[in-house]
Amino acid sequence: MDDLDHIGLERSDVIVTSPRAWQTVSSRFPKDVRLLDADGLAVHGASRIVAVGAGRTMDRAKILAADSGLPLITIPTVLATDAAFSSVAAFRDRGFVEYRETGLPEAVVIDSKVLAQAPLAWHRWGLGDLISVVSALSDRRTITGVDPYVEEAAAVLVGDTLKWAGEATDDLVALADLLVRKVELGLAVDAAWLEEGTEHYLAYLLETKINKSLWHGELILALMPVCAAVQQWPASQVATVSDALRACGAVRPARCLLTSAAFVDMVNSMPEYCREHGYDNTVLRDDRVLDEIRTEAIRAWETGW
Ligand SMILES: [Zn+2]
Repeated sequence: MDDLDHIGLERSDVIVTSPRAWQTVSSRFPKDVRLLDADGLAVHGASRIVAVGAGRTMDRAKILAADSGLPLITIPTVLATDAAFSSVAAFRDRGFVEYRETGLPEAVVIDSKVLAQAPLAWHRWGLGDLISVVSALSDRRTITGVDPYVEEAAAVLVGDTLKWAGEATDDLVALADLLVRKVELGLAVDAAWLEEGTEHYLAYLLETKINKSLWHGELILALMPVCAAVQQWPASQVATVSDALRACGAVRPARCLLTSAAFVDMVNSMPEYCREHGYDNTVLRDDRVLDEIRTEAIRAWETGW
């Protein structure tokens, strides 16, 4: 859906949102809408859950909708993750990120006026979940191999993603479309490995080490040069990805997030961290591999693309 007005908002709908998101978009909603109260328990008598916000709000609403058996409508205000489109919700537990199957939303509203309320730079972090296909597939290739049809479909998606980034466009509907295609490809493959590998596992660990709140895609893209190093991407691939990301400014200097010494500790703990939680789609689950590529990983962290 492309317009908020098309969902026919009713009194019985319960809005799940964040203060930041609601502040920017509430004027587009009727005055008497019902917001979820702080304890999250007031869905009694509700007919639908309507999620308005970014990734964490989407995850919260998806879990609430799944638990209460209510249909879910998502209205992303920031496209920094694929959370508004996917059938799983992320939740954090003692330093690990787990996913729960919650089902697809009944509808997703991509309203250009709503999206225009957030800075373009925030939306562009959505490239993190899209470029994850490059690194997650690279992991998978070395571990079990990848079916040619998946390779082909992923290559088309990645090509279109890099084109979108390289053009530095502000076409957010096109970005949403790429995120939808990524989710659809993941569902067709029926496995998380299409979009979750070294980049996500490193990001899960990194978010526990820094005390700033960054977008999920921002962390992923900060770690992508490290993925390129440890997965030994061909030079042409490094150039293609880094040029496209640079063109639209979706590059996050990683060094200022964590000192090199702390990064070394983090990388050294990766094999155990991954084994402990069954994060198996990564070259970093193996201590011997880590020994061979540690220096490269650290250099990539320090210098970026
Ligand atoms: Zn992600």
